[in-house]
Amino acid sequence: MSRYKEKELYIYNTLSRKKELFEALSPPHVGLYVCGPTVYGDPHLGHARPAVTFDLLYRYLKLLGYTVRYVRNITDVGHLESDADEGEDKILKKARIEQLEPMEVVQHYTNRYHEAMNLLNVLPPSIEPRASGHIIEQQVMAETILSKGYAYEVNGSLYFDVLKYNEQHHYGKLSGRVLEDLISNARQLGTQDEKRNSADFALWKKAGPTHIMRWPSKWGEGFPGWHLECSAMSKKYLGDRFDIHGGGMDLLFPHHECEIAQTVAATGSDAVRYWMHNNMVTINGQKMGKSLGNFITLEELFNGSHELLEKAYSPMTIRFFMLQAHYGSTLDFSNDALSAAERGLARLMAAVSVLDRLKPGEGGDFDVGAFEQNAFAAMNDDLGSPVLAAHLFDAARFINSAYTGGASLPAGEMEKLRELFRMFVFDVLGLVEEKKEMGDLAARLVDLLLTIRMEVKNKKDYELSDRIRNELTSFGITVKDKKDGFEWLFDQ
Ligand code: ZN
Repeated sequence: MSRYKEKELYIYNTLSRKKELFEALSPPHVGLYVCGPTVYGDPHLGHARPAVTFDLLYRYLKLLGYTVRYVRNITDVGHLESDADEGEDKILKKARIEQLEPMEVVQHYTNRYHEAMNLLNVLPPSIEPRASGHIIEQQVMAETILSKGYAYEVNGSLYFDVLKYNEQHHYGKLSGRVLEDLISNARQLGTQDEKRNSADFALWKKAGPTHIMRWPSKWGEGFPGWHLECSAMSKKYLGDRFDIHGGGMDLLFPHHECEIAQTVAATGSDAVRYWMHNNMVTINGQKMGKSLGNFITLEELFNGSHELLEKAYSPMTIRFFMLQAHYGSTLDFSNDALSAAERGLARLMAAVSVLDRLKPGEGGDFDVGAFEQNAFAAMNDDLGSPVLAAHLFDAARFINSAYTGGASLPAGEMEKLRELFRMFVFDVLGLVEEKKEMGDLAARLVDLLLTIRMEVKNKKDYELSDRIRNELTSFGITVKDKKDGFEWLFDQ
C-alpha cells in the first residue's frame, strides 16, 4: 500500500539546521547515499550506529511506499591515518602488519562487516560500490575540477584549492565552519608541504615507491584522495542531484564538507537535498578509542568477551538499544543500559508471541486508531524511534492484559492491532525474534508438565491434556506421544 502521499515525514537537515518536510525529488523514487565503512578492522559499535540509523530510514521510506535506491559504499583505498592527507593508508598499514595483500584485508573485513550487519538485521543496500572499483570515475571528476580552476597539480599530486572555491562558494556551510578560522587554527605548512594552503585537500596523491595500491593517471601513478570517492560514486549511481546523503557526525568535517566542495566545483551545484547525520557512541560516558581500552567490537558484544561487559548481549538487544535513543543524540553504552534494553525487547517479543492467541471480546479497552496515529506521528517526527518504542510498550501492556483475560477488544480492532504491532516491531524497527537456548530449569519444568499430562490423560481428561500440549506447541515445543511415555523437541 502506498502511503507516502498521506504521511508527512519531517527530517532534520544538517545543512539548514532545521526539520524539513521530506519531499522526494522525483517520487516515488528516492536516492539515498550513506558513507560506509573503511574496511581495515573488525566491525564495532561505531559501525553499527550509522548502519542501524539508515536502515531505519530505508525501511520507513519503503513502508511509506517509496522505491529507494540505497547506495552505501565500501572505502578500500585512500583513507589515510590523518584527515590532513598524512600518514599511511589505513588498509595498507593493516596489510603490512598482517603480511597480507591489501585486497585480502579489504575482502576479509568486508565479509566481517556483512556478517555483523546480517546479525543486526540491517538490510543490504541496493548498491555497495567500492572506491577501488571506481578509479576512472574519480579521475574524471578530478580532471573536471582541475579544468574548472578549482584544483592545482604539484609533483604528480592534485589538490583542491579551498581558497579559490571559497571566493564564489561557502566552504564550511555544512559544518558551520569559517575558512579564516580553519586556516588560523591549522598548523603552519612545513617546507615539505605541497599544498598552497593548510585547508586544501588531496584529490589525487602521487604514490611513493613502496605504495602498493597505485593506478596510472595522466599525473603519474597514484591513488585517489579519500573524499573524492563519495562525490564520484554518488554522482554515478544517483545522478547530479539526489534526495538524501547520510553518515556519522564524525564525517561532517572534513569529509562531507569536501564532498560538497568537489561536487559544486565539478557540476556547479550541490547534489544533495537533505543531509542527515547520526550522533556518536560513547562507552560509560567516554569516547570510544583503542588507547582508552574501551574499544568494543560487535563480536565482543555478542559473545560478552570484552572485560567491560558483564555478559553477552544479543544482536537484537544492541539493535533495540540503539533504536531506543534518537539517532541525533549521543548514545552511551553501559551494562545497565544494555540490560534495560534487553528487558524491554523481551517485553515486546512476549507480546508478539501471544498476539495470535488473543481472543476478541466485548470490551474497548485500547484505542487502536490512536495507537496507529501516534506511532506514525513518532516516526514522521524525524524518525522518532524512542517515542515509537514507548507507544509499543503501551500496546504490549494491553496485549498482555488481553491475553490474561483482563481486557479485550472487538474482533476487527484486535486484528488491526495485531497487524500494526507486527508492522512496527518487524518492518519498521527491523527487530527479529531470536532463537533462545532453553535453560536446564526450563527443560525440567517441561518434563514435569508432560509427566502431569500423562497422568491427566490416564484419567481420561483429554481436554486438559490437549490444552497442555497445544500451549507447549505455541512456545515452540513439539510433543510426541510414545507408548510408554513422551518425547519432546524445542525448536523456536
Ligand atoms: Zn563518504
